[in-house]
Amino acid sequence: MNLSRRDFLKATGLSGIGLAMASLGLDMPKVKAAAKEFKLKGAREFTSICHFCACGCGVIGYVKDDKLVQLEGAVDSPINRGALCSKGLGYGHIPNSKERAQKPLYRAPGSDHWEEISWEEAIDKAAHAMKNAREKGWKQTEEIDGKTYEVRRTDGLSFIGGSQINNEECYQNIKMARALGVVYIDNQTRVCHANTPPALGAAFGRGAMTNPWADIKNTHLIWIEGSNLAECHPMGLKNVMAAREKNGSKIVHVDTRFTRTSKVADEFFQVRPGTDIVFMGYIIHEMLESGKFNKEYVLQNTNGACLLRDDFKFDDGLFSGYDAEKKAYTNTETWGYALGADGKPQKAKDLFAPNTVMSRLKEFYSRYTLEMVENITGMKAEDAKRAASIWIENDKPAIIMYALGMTQHTVGVQNIRCFTIMQLLKGNVGIPGAGIIAMRGQPNVQASTDFGIEFNMQPGYLVHPTHKTPTLEKWTEAFGTFRRKWYVNMTKAWFGEHATPENGYGFDYGAIRNGNHPDSIYAIFEDAWKGTMHALYLCGQNPQMTNANLTMVHDGLCKMDSLIVQDIFVNETAEFWNRPGDNPSEIQTEVIFLPACSYLEREGTITNSMRLIQWRMQGPKPVGDSKPDYIINDMLWKRIRELYKDSTEKKDEPIKYMSWNYSQDNYIEDVMKEISGYNVATGELVNGIGELKDNGETASGMWIYAGYISREGNRTKRRGQEDPGDIGIFPQFGWVWPDNIHILYNRASCNPDGTPKDKEHPLVWWDAAAGKWTGYDVPDVGNRTAGPDTPDGQKPFRMNGEGIGRLFAATYKDKNPDGMTRDASSTPVDGPLPEFYEPVESPTHNALHKNELAQFNPCVKYPRVPEKQPLGTKDKFPYVLTSSGIAEHWCSGTVTRNIPWLNELVKEPFVEISEQLAKKLSIKEGDKVKVSSARGAVVVKAMVTKRAQPLTVNGEETHMVWMPYSWGFKGLAKGPSTNYLTIDALDPNTQEQEFKACLVNIVKA
Ligand code: SF4
Repeated sequence: MNLSRRDFLKATGLSGIGLAMASLGLDMPKVKAAAKEFKLKGAREFTSICHFCACGCGVIGYVKDDKLVQLEGAVDSPINRGALCSKGLGYGHIPNSKERAQKPLYRAPGSDHWEEISWEEAIDKAAHAMKNAREKGWKQTEEIDGKTYEVRRTDGLSFIGGSQINNEECYQNIKMARALGVVYIDNQTRVCHANTPPALGAAFGRGAMTNPWADIKNTHLIWIEGSNLAECHPMGLKNVMAAREKNGSKIVHVDTRFTRTSKVADEFFQVRPGTDIVFMGYIIHEMLESGKFNKEYVLQNTNGACLLRDDFKFDDGLFSGYDAEKKAYTNTETWGYALGADGKPQKAKDLFAPNTVMSRLKEFYSRYTLEMVENITGMKAEDAKRAASIWIENDKPAIIMYALGMTQHTVGVQNIRCFTIMQLLKGNVGIPGAGIIAMRGQPNVQASTDFGIEFNMQPGYLVHPTHKTPTLEKWTEAFGTFRRKWYVNMTKAWFGEHATPENGYGFDYGAIRNGNHPDSIYAIFEDAWKGTMHALYLCGQNPQMTNANLTMVHDGLCKMDSLIVQDIFVNETAEFWNRPGDNPSEIQTEVIFLPACSYLEREGTITNSMRLIQWRMQGPKPVGDSKPDYIINDMLWKRIRELYKDSTEKKDEPIKYMSWNYSQDNYIEDVMKEISGYNVATGELVNGIGELKDNGETASGMWIYAGYISREGNRTKRRGQEDPGDIGIFPQFGWVWPDNIHILYNRASCNPDGTPKDKEHPLVWWDAAAGKWTGYDVPDVGNRTAGPDTPDGQKPFRMNGEGIGRLFAATYKDKNPDGMTRDASSTPVDGPLPEFYEPVESPTHNALHKNELAQFNPCVKYPRVPEKQPLGTKDKFPYVLTSSGIAEHWCSGTVTRNIPWLNELVKEPFVEISEQLAKKLSIKEGDKVKVSSARGAVVVKAMVTKRAQPLTVNGEETHMVWMPYSWGFKGLAKGPSTNYLTIDALDPNTQEQEFKACLVNIVKA
C-alpha cells in the first residue's frame, strides 16, 4: 500500500504536521482530496471489517492491479464513522508485506530449517498427522467414577484457533473437530474473555455484551473498570466521548494503574490487582444499606423477592456443600429457592423479608466495609466513599464497560457477576444507554465463542455432553427441552439423513467428554507433556506467546508428534523448535505450515463485540500461494475424509456422514445457509429462530444465527443508515444475533402492562391495537403476540429458567407440566454470590477470612503439573506484576510486530515501575532490569513513572509493576516474552488464567 510513514502518523492523529501546514495558509482538504483522487483513479473499492479488537470498525479498501493501494475507515459504519486507530490503519501494510509466508512449509523431526513443499504434499501430511494422532488417542469407552461409559472420542488430537477467522471458517473447524471426535478444542477466548459468558449468563441468561456501541451516546455515567479502553478499544472510546458531548456524562475509571483511559476520565480510582470484588462488594453494601436502588425494577424484573432455602450457608469463606478433598462444591442443592407446590420459586411481598434474595444479599455484603476496602484494595477510604457515592447517587442510565482487567483472574467470573448485581439493582439492564459492555479483544473472538470452539460447548452455547449427560434424554433432563430443540437442529444440519429419532437426531455420533477433566488450551500442553496428546492443529493463534507460563507450552510442544499451523506469518509457536537457546536436533516434533491469506484477501462474515455480524468483501488477491482459510479447511477435510472412505468401523461414521456440500462458486453463502437454517424437505431458508422445529423437519447449524441469511437475502451485507428513535440501533445495518435484537432484555424497559417506563425515550412496547410487541428495536420476547398479561409476556430475562434477572445465581430448573426440564439456569461453580479471595500468588493474607482454605479461590486446583508450575512467595518475589496490551501492538504481536510503523512507535518490551520502587532498587529510567517469577525470568528496560504508585495493603507498602506482553523471538521487532513470568492458575468455572496478578522480583541486570 502506498502509505508513507508521515501519512500514517497523520492519519492516526500522531502528528501535528497537518495542523501546521494549514496554519501556513495551505488548503489541506483540497490538496488531500486531489492527491487521493489521483491515487485511486481506476481502483476497485471494497468494504471489510478491521482485524484487531472486536469493535468491528468498517474499512474501505482500494485495489489496483490486484494490490491494495489504500485503506481507510468506512464513513457509513455506525461504530467508527470513518475513523481508524493506529492498528486498524496500520493493517494496510499487511497484504503487501514481504514477511508473509507465501508457500506451504515443512519442518522434519530434528531438523533446523523449513523446506518449501507443495499444497498437495502439505495437506496430505497434515491429514495423515491428524489421523495418526486421532487413532493413537482413541477411546471408545472410559471408566469414570467407577462406571464404564461409551465416550467415542480421541484424547490424542487437539484444535486451537477461531478468533482470527471468519464465521463460516469457524463453523468448518468445529464440524471437522466434532466429526473426528476431538474434545480438546479451544480458542483465544480461553485466555481473554472465557469468564464473560458464564458470568453474564448466570445473571441475564445470555453471555454477551448487552447494548450496541452507538447506543453508548445515551448514557449519563460511564463506569470503566478493568479496561484501558483508550488503547485497547479506541473506537469504543469514540462512542464514550459522544456521550460526554451529548449529555455531559461523567467518566469514571477504576483500574490497577493510571493509563491513557484514566487521563480522559473525570475520576480515577486505583485498586490492587485482584481486589475489585471488595471494592464492588462495598458499593453493593452501600446501595443496600442506603436503600438507594431501583425497588420497582428489582421487584418486577429480578429474583430479589424470591425466597431461598433456609439451609443455604456461608461460613468463613466457604458456601455450603464444599468438599475440601475435591476442592469443589459437590452439593449445590442448598443454593436453590424455596419452591412452591408448582415447583416455581416462592416470592415474598417484602423485598427484605427473612430469606429473600435481597435480605441474604444485604447480610452477605455487610462484611464489605470501608475499612476492608482500604485494607485490601489499598484505596483510601475517602476515595472509595466518593466512588460509591457517584454510582449510588446517579439515577440516570449508566453503563459499565470492562475487558481483561476483570476477566483474567481466578475470580474472573465473580468479578463480572458483581457488575450484574450493580446494574440489576440500579434497573440498568434492557434500556438504552445502559447495560454491560463486555469488550472483546480479537476480531472474531465473539463468534469463535458463539460457534463453540471450546472444549465445554457446542455451537450456540449448548453444553457439550459429558459422562453425566451421555444421551439426548439425559442431556435434555439437565439443560431442558427449550435447548434440546437447538441441539437437534444442529446435529440434523451436520448429519442430514443419518440424523434420526433413533440415534437422538445424530446426538449419538458425538463424543462424550469426561466431565471431571477440563480439556482446555492449558490441558493440551499439560497432557502433551504427560505424553497423551500427540498433535495440535492451530489456526490463527500463537499460544507460545499468549498462554501463561510459556515454559509449559514449549515443553509440551516438544513432546508432540506433529504440529499443524495455519497462519499468515510463521509465528513463535510454528517455530518453537528454533527458539533462541534451543537445540532443534533434540526436538522431534514435525511441523506443517499452511500459509493463510489476510482478512482483506477473502470474503465471509465476522461478528463484533456487540453481536453485529458484518460482511467482508474480498479485496486484493491472496499473496503468493497463500489461500483463504475456508479453502484450506475444505482441502484438509476432503483429504481426511478420503483417508477414511473405506473404513467400516462405527467410530468413523461421523467422518463419513458429516455434511459438506458447498458449491465452489458460492461457497461462503452455502455455508451460511447451513448455519442459518432451512426446511429439510424443501430447502427453503428460515427467516429466524421462531421457524425452527424440534422434530428434524428443519436443520440449523447454529440456532442463534438463524436468519442471518434468509428468504430476504444475505442480511449481513446491509448498510442501511436509518435509526428510528435516534437510539443508535441502526436495525438495517448488518444483522445482530439473536433475531436482530440490539438491546438485550429490552422487555425490562416496559412496565408490567407493556407501556414504556421512560415515555420520553421509548424502546419497545406492547401495541394493544395490533396485538403484538413492537418498537424501535426487535422486542426481546419469546412470542411477539403473547401480551403482557400472559406468562410469556412477563419474562424480561426469558433465557433464564425463572424468566427474571438473577441477583443470586440460585440452582434452578424450570419444569414442563410433564416434569421434564424446560430450561435450567446456570450457576457458577464457585458460588451463587461473588466473594473476595486473594490471587493465587499474593503479597498478603486474606483479611476477610481466617480459614486457610479461603486464602485464594477454594475451587482452584493449582499446581496441576507440580514440576512445571512452581508457586512464588512474597519473600523471594515481593512485587505484584500485572500485564496487558498497548495501543500500538496487539495480542502476540504476530501482525503488529511486522508493521514497521508500529515498531517505530513502540519497539521493545519494558517494565513500568514507580519512582519509589526505582529509588529503593537504585534503578534509573532506561536501565536494563531482570524481572523474575517462580516460573521464569526476562531482561527488559525499566520505565520509571510518576503514574505508578505503591499502595498500602493490610498496613504494608505494596509495589505494583506493569509489563506489556506482545513481544517474542519472531517478527521484525523482537523481545523477551512477558508470559514466561505469568501464572497459569485458572478460574475454576472456565480455566481462564490469572494474568493480572502474580509475584515477581526485580533486580538491575
Ligand atoms: S478500534 Fe479496534 S476495530 Fe477499530 S480500527 Fe482500532 S483495532 Fe480496528
